[in-house]
Amino acid sequence: MDTILTGIRVNGELTLGNFLGALVPMVRLANEHNKTHNINIFVPDLHTIISDVDGDLQKNIIKSVKYYLAAGLKVGGNVHFYRQSYVPAHSELNWILNCVASMGELNRMTQFKEKSEGKESVNAGIFDYPVLMAADILLYDARYVPVGEDQFQHLELTRNLAIRINNRFDEPIFTPPEKTEEQVKFMNLDGGIRIRDLQNPEKKMSKSSRAENSKIMLSDDPSVAAKKIMSATTDSLGNIKFDMFNQPGISNLLQIEALVNDVPLQEVISTWAGESHYGDLKKKVAESVSTFLASFQEELAAISEEAVYELLETGEAYVNEVADRKLEKVQKAFGLR
Ligand code: ATP
Ligand code: MG
Repeated sequence: MDTILTGIRVNGELTLGNFLGALVPMVRLANEHNKTHNINIFVPDLHTIISDVDGDLQKNIIKSVKYYLAAGLKVGGNVHFYRQSYVPAHSELNWILNCVASMGELNRMTQFKEKSEGKESVNAGIFDYPVLMAADILLYDARYVPVGEDQFQHLELTRNLAIRINNRFDEPIFTPPEKTEEQVKFMNLDGGIRIRDLQNPEKKMSKSSRAENSKIMLSDDPSVAAKKIMSATTDSLGNIKFDMFNQPGISNLLQIEALVNDVPLQEVISTWAGESHYGDLKKKVAESVSTFLASFQEELAAISEEAVYELLETGEAYVNEVADRKLEKVQKAFGLR
């Protein structure tokens, strides 16, 4: 059975954009394929400590798993949740892959260049994390790894390392993940969803944006979120139309309305076609968003910490066996066993 693998970033809060653009599509993908694929969802805690070392890691691990559950992920069967640091084979394989990856190819990673640019001191983890990522993937022979464009290069590196190692020994050890074009096709996400910044709709909504009014957080009080929608930037054309280029603010509202109600965008566009009162649209979207947030927050509160720990521990017991088997195969090939 093929494996779909995804990592949940462990950093505090998510925006409505993160939720609609990343979490919901992943949950849909997992629910669609959980009969025919292993669904590995791991919390990359070892990746997290590359940059953020603070007291909230444990809290954030639990919260990130809860987000998936509250977003409707169906558990059980082939779905495995686990924390990276609870599966020591990730670190073990990371080292072995370090001895195969070249400094040159890691130096070419644009993420590394971007993240280290202008910094006086950069930890080795930032340089090496693509190799840890390769270990995360190859341990499970994961075929599909839904990631954003910024991670495509790392996926290619993973493929290259797998192929290089397979060529080195008599029998293949790893299944390389599919090429990025195949990944994109499988995810069926081309055109991807980009929720815009409420104040500057030319930009995308970002959690790191400092203007509170420009983003909706999943933890926002529903009435506060409604006010943010009411104060969203629109335009002066007085025509409700989906046109991201000329009317990004209005288009963004139509898009949000469709996604939080889980109805096709075309349907929302038709409903509002020919209307000119932006206030009416805002009122409707504000209502939809606050209803959505209230019910999401209720779902979230209903998930106990114990349930999350149980899920993680069950997953970890399972994947440790799978990962150890693969690791042993690699260790034997390298003469370590
Ligand atoms: P930051 O400002 O720190 O970069 P971010 O909001 O851009 O935060 P990321 O952690 O970079 O969030 O990305 C998490 C996931 O959310 C990625 O899969 C990314 O593609 C998706 N995502 C981020 N912003 C949006 C958005 N506005 N609309 C849709 N998807 C988004
Ligand atoms: Mg980002």
